[in-house]
Amino acid sequence: MHTRFKCNGCKRDTEFLWLDQLDTPEGFKAYQCMDCGCVGIKNVVEALSIPDSAICRCDKCGSWKFNTVVCHTCQLIGAKDANV
Ligand SMILES: [Zn+2]
Ligand SMILES: [Zn+2]
Repeated sequence: MHTRFKCNGCKRDTEFLWLDQLDTPEGFKAYQCMDCGCVGIKNVVEALSIPDSAICRCDKCGSWKFNTVVCHTCQLIGAKDANV
C-alpha cells in the first residue's frame, strides 16, 4: 500500500513512493509518482488517505493543515524569510 496523491505531472490520483533518503522540511516529503515517474515535494496533509475531519484550511496562507498542529507551509515561508 502506497500513499495516494493527486499528481502534478499526470493529474491523476496515483500512488506515490516516498523517497525517505531525501532531506525535506517538516511536514513535507519527497515522492515519486508510480505512474508518470515525476519527483517532487508534497505536503503530507494533502495525502488522499487523510480524513477531511483531521484537516482544515490555514487562515494565513490557505494551504491545507492538520487541525492540531501549526501550518507547515507558513512555517516554511517563515523559515525562508528568516534566511533573507
Ligand atoms: Zn504522475
Ligand atoms: Zn499557512
